[in-house]
Amino acid sequence: MELKLYNTLTRSKELFKPLKPMTAGIYTCGPTVYNYAHIGNMRTYIFEDGLVRALKFLGYGVKRVMNITDVGHLVSDADDGEDKMEVGAKREGKSAWDIAKFYTEAFFRDYKALNCLLPDITCPATEYIKEMLDLLLALEKKGFTYRINDGIYFDTAKLPDYGKLAGKSHIEGIREGARVEANAEKRGAADFALWKFSLPEEQRQMEWDSPWGKGFPGWHMECSAMAMKHLGETIDIHCGGEDHVAIHHTNEIAQSEAATGKPFANYWLHARFLIMGDTGKMSKSAGGFLTTATLMEKGCDPLAYRYFCFSAHYRKQLEFSWESIDTAAKNLEALRATIARLKEEAQAPAVNKGKDERFHEFYDHFAEALADDLNMPQALAVLWGALRSPYGATERREFALKADEVLGLDLDRAPAQEPLPAELAALVTEREAARKARDFKRSDELRKALADKGVLIEDTSSGTKWKFSRG
Ligand code: AMP
Ligand code: ZN
Repeated sequence: MELKLYNTLTRSKELFKPLKPMTAGIYTCGPTVYNYAHIGNMRTYIFEDGLVRALKFLGYGVKRVMNITDVGHLVSDADDGEDKMEVGAKREGKSAWDIAKFYTEAFFRDYKALNCLLPDITCPATEYIKEMLDLLLALEKKGFTYRINDGIYFDTAKLPDYGKLAGKSHIEGIREGARVEANAEKRGAADFALWKFSLPEEQRQMEWDSPWGKGFPGWHMECSAMAMKHLGETIDIHCGGEDHVAIHHTNEIAQSEAATGKPFANYWLHARFLIMGDTGKMSKSAGGFLTTATLMEKGCDPLAYRYFCFSAHYRKQLEFSWESIDTAAKNLEALRATIARLKEEAQAPAVNKGKDERFHEFYDHFAEALADDLNMPQALAVLWGALRSPYGATERREFALKADEVLGLDLDRAPAQEPLPAELAALVTEREAARKARDFKRSDELRKALADKGVLIEDTSSGTKWKFSRG
């Protein structure tokens, strides 16, 4: 099946042609670990996880690399201000290294709770300083760098197609709109730091020696160095959130392509933002954001958040609301209840275990949805359609479990409590009232009426429980 992906670089949906047949090397920008990841960040990771799983479903071998930014990301993306890690360390009175460790662990707890598969390679920036310095040397040799008081910079004017990812007008905007006082020594407003010098008054915790002086790498360096080290000079797919297009990915492309003379990534995929209804943006540095752990503390199944993310296409902005999370949780529970029911139906001796050839169309339609630029809402619709179809319980359940290899919703998990149709729920309530009023005759009548409709009642010390009798 032909896989089409929307490529930010060409602004079009393109046929995916990997460098090696049926394999995909993927680089995904990871978290900056100076604070918890918020659920907006997690939207991007869920999208990337969906991509990896979809590729595997479609038969591709996948190698995925993700970095951990534990140094070098400054408060502003434009190389101003302090290093976010050092800010986090000051805020919490810990060392920058402890901050990195603590928030990396917190990140992976959330990541796993959301059922995201671990990358094949996870690389902390602090372990790749040598690779970054090698890249810087290569750039210096080719004449793309210059030195000013606070660091070594990339000269964007030397790269004719600088800014091609975001578009020419955007880069012209940066060049024209730049504040003069930002860094008067920079040759061009879009020029960015490859290496920053430690300033004597700074007392940095994270710094390294280099041929140019003690300091630390510019933020974009890590992704170029690590992606090329693990996936080669040209990679198949590079992903991240939409905020990375204008600066981070633009600069990754510039420094990688200037150094190698080859395309850095063939397909650039970007997830649109999750926004909050009231305040709009969700920002890690501004604080006051929602995390996966907060959702869980409020009793929300983290996979309901995953379902919610897949209910919108990754290239559409998604607005968070508690109502939408409730709806997603109900839908997820209903899916699990249906699959549990099918399991019991499939085990009943009377069930015809034969398969109907025509059922295969659901597998085809599911794959088609994935292959159409990862259309997860459509893939979910195909799943619902298959479950509601008149085909056999066994094949419907098998399909749901196969689809779950991509969706990652833990669909085989026993539902918390299967939903009872309203009319039967009313009988249960009426029986409870009769029992409380000690009207045992009425209570027994209602127990029998429910049993006739396949619902068994059990009176326990913690109240009345019910379950379907089945068969
Ligand atoms: P950071 O840890 O800030 O470097 O961000 C980690 C990932 O989350 C990056 O791919 C960002 O582009 C992405 N991201 C940041 N904010 C949001 C948001 N509100 N919605 C979706 N993705 C986001
Ligand atoms: Zn990156």
